[in-house]
Amino acid sequence: MSSLVGPDEDDPRGKPPVPEDVQEAIRTLIRWTGDDPEREGLQDTPKRVARAWKEYCVGYEEDPAVHLSRVFEEVGGYDEIVLLKDIPFQSHCEHHMAPIIGKAAIAYLPTDHVVGISKLARVLHGYARRLQIQERLTAEVAQCIWDNLQPKGVAVVIEASHACMTARGVRTPGVGMVTSRVMGTFRKDDRSRKEVLGLMGY
Ligand SMILES: [Zn+2]
Repeated sequence: MSSLVGPDEDDPRGKPPVPEDVQEAIRTLIRWTGDDPEREGLQDTPKRVARAWKEYCVGYEEDPAVHLSRVFEEVGGYDEIVLLKDIPFQSHCEHHMAPIIGKAAIAYLPTDHVVGISKLARVLHGYARRLQIQERLTAEVAQCIWDNLQPKGVAVVIEASHACMTARGVRTPGVGMVTSRVMGTFRKDDRSRKEVLGLMGY
């Protein structure tokens, strides 16, 4: 008779071991919420959950600024806004450890150098893959670009829905939260701010 269980996705080969106390913590939570952590379907769950959390929080293992260390100086005189928008991301709120799912728009006004465009998304993910609040995530991304690229301006707008609001508590699916951080020219000059927010679609 063939097994109902598919290929063992939890094959420990190549995967870091999960300490026993971490597994026990997840078993405790399962027990506390009302299930039996020893039943068949839940036996490997503590390991899977632990490894999933390591992945959700992999940002702790990196300094997002490293993505901005390589810049390009041949910009052909380009001194207008550089914008990456609709960048999907996932994070987890530090209050409930529940998913935050959303998209970000990141813009800067270069001085005499630019950065590979995908690097802006990498900076976002470096901070998103931690326990976060949306406000701090927005500020950290903006500050990292400001400090490391030394642009004339930075604007970051993040729009996200929080599972701690949509799946529990007030249970209001479809609600999005918008946060923004503008620095430099985008903060000081009304017209530049309107221009960048307009390009972002706000
Ligand atoms: Zn929350």
